[in-house]
Amino acid sequence: MEKLITINSIDDILPAYRQTPIGLLLEYHNLNRPLETFDKAQLLVGMCMDNRKHLHMPDNFAFIIRSGGANLRYSEFKVSYAIAVGQVSHIALIGHNNCGMVNLISRKTEFINGLVTIAGWEKERAKEHFMHFAPMFEIGSETDFILSETKRLRLRYPKVIIAPLFYLVDDNKLYIIEEN
Ligand SMILES: [Zn+2]
Repeated sequence: MEKLITINSIDDILPAYRQTPIGLLLEYHNLNRPLETFDKAQLLVGMCMDNRKHLHMPDNFAFIIRSGGANLRYSEFKVSYAIAVGQVSHIALIGHNNCGMVNLISRKTEFINGLVTIAGWEKERAKEHFMHFAPMFEIGSETDFILSETKRLRLRYPKVIIAPLFYLVDDNKLYIIEEN
């Protein structure tokens, strides 16, 4: 796994993110900075749909797009909207450990059976559904995926500042994923 930078003080926040909405997010969530009042969004957060995560930040502070694995490849119009209409120029892309999108293929049987018993799908249709979509959402490793998604988004939106972050579900803290 890539190295995670622990944020225990403002000095731990990389200079590139300090005094930006990304640094503010880290201060609110990790350092208990008092919540300020905002009348418009300051950044876009892309994070996994996983239920174990909750961000501590002020109302109105961020647009949030939640998707399996924090994968924004299929949410591009929403990303563009937050930038163009919402006027945010910072994105925090937040992966997390124990993500269900890693080794998704191992959950094939569970997925198909769940759609049959809980949703009332035909087994064959559930199987096709899984086989069609699983390759689009499968991620190899949580940190590698966030780094590659960060690179892709930086190319797509060159003037936007994008930070690869990580949420550890064990301590509910945010970390910066170190880039080399
Ligand atoms: Zn996840």
